[in-house]
Amino acid sequence: MAARRGTNLDRVGGFNDAVVLDAIRRTERLSRVELAEATGLSGQAISNIIRRLLDAGLVREAGRQKSTGLGKPRTLLELEPSGQYAVGVHLDPAVVTVVVLDLTGEVVARRSVGTPYADDPDVLIDRIVATIEDVISQAGAPRERVIGAGIAAPGPIDVERGVVVDPPNLSAWHLVPLRDELRERTGLPVLLDKDVTAAAAAEKWAGGSDRHGSFVFFYLGTGIGAGLVIGDEVVRGSSSNVGEIGHVIVDPDGPVCYCGRRGCVGETSQPRYLVQQAVQAGVLAQGIDLDDRQAVDAAFARLCSVAESGPGVAREIVAALAERIAKVVEDIANLLDLERVVFGGPHWEQLAPFFSDAVQTALKERFLVRSVHPFEVAGTALGADVGAIGAASLVLDQTFSPNPSVLLPEGQLVAER
Ligand SMILES: [Zn+2]
Repeated sequence: MAARRGTNLDRVGGFNDAVVLDAIRRTERLSRVELAEATGLSGQAISNIIRRLLDAGLVREAGRQKSTGLGKPRTLLELEPSGQYAVGVHLDPAVVTVVVLDLTGEVVARRSVGTPYADDPDVLIDRIVATIEDVISQAGAPRERVIGAGIAAPGPIDVERGVVVDPPNLSAWHLVPLRDELRERTGLPVLLDKDVTAAAAAEKWAGGSDRHGSFVFFYLGTGIGAGLVIGDEVVRGSSSNVGEIGHVIVDPDGPVCYCGRRGCVGETSQPRYLVQQAVQAGVLAQGIDLDDRQAVDAAFARLCSVAESGPGVAREIVAALAERIAKVVEDIANLLDLERVVFGGPHWEQLAPFFSDAVQTALKERFLVRSVHPFEVAGTALGADVGAIGAASLVLDQTFSPNPSVLLPEGQLVAER
């Protein structure tokens, strides 16, 4: 992956600092000469920037390159992990997860707590604030090095006002000024973004070297959603609500969705629907209460383990799910010329053992772009914390993003004034 190019104009110091930090992050270790080559900046400009970054504690020297016999060996530079920290919060209807990342994107502390089912949003905000403070001290992060907190929440969200508009199963949260409340109570700059966008950012950041380029993060949870990374940049759309794919119709004869139409991909991907199918097909015993979330989750786990054990009706039910999802993935991938789909979210772990193959098979006959380049099907390497890690990544992104087009809308990362 090529580094971004800098500009040798003086007035863009902050821009060039970000270009250099980003180049170091992408390759882990670089000498000043290599940095000049990678960024197009002059040797003098690189020296000045590195001196500034060393003083700020954002980079450190990391030994010397082996001598090539020509001149003295070059000093290597790498990110100083303790240079900055970012907090990430994933607000899920069932669980609140909080992580702290260091500058290299490593998780240095984490905690998850049950989401309180209170009518009073203050109770939940108090719980989140207390957990944030706990995790920061658990990380041993000096307060002045914590540059902000990101919140990943179910959409739709109102980025301008920093509110969650209508979160599923959190009716008390309708239009609560979450961002400003957290900013006030923690004193940290806070940004709010969609859970799927955060998850896509996490994959870009921490998912490994093969997560560069253009991909869709397909979130399988209480809802279905898609986060997009195109050309290494997280895409957010006009109102940061990109990726609302839950109501794409994949089965015109399917169940009625709450939107009033039949066979939406979101509705037909819910454990509740799959469990119901499995009961009708005789794979699961009668008598499961489909309104009892825990009972449905347990039944869904049984369905997945039967499907994993070998061919049969259970496997066919899951293969049909894979087929429906493949239809949506195909359209997104063709529309945007993507290289891969990465699956994740709360329901992913149970589906993972056989789902990638099923989607791959379903896509084989469908995917048009495959004649030009291969299309990869992958699962997240970041596990269940992917939303929280992503929320923190979005905060760190601002340190490394020299491209103004990927900066968050003005005022989104709001510091206490
Ligand atoms: Zn629908």
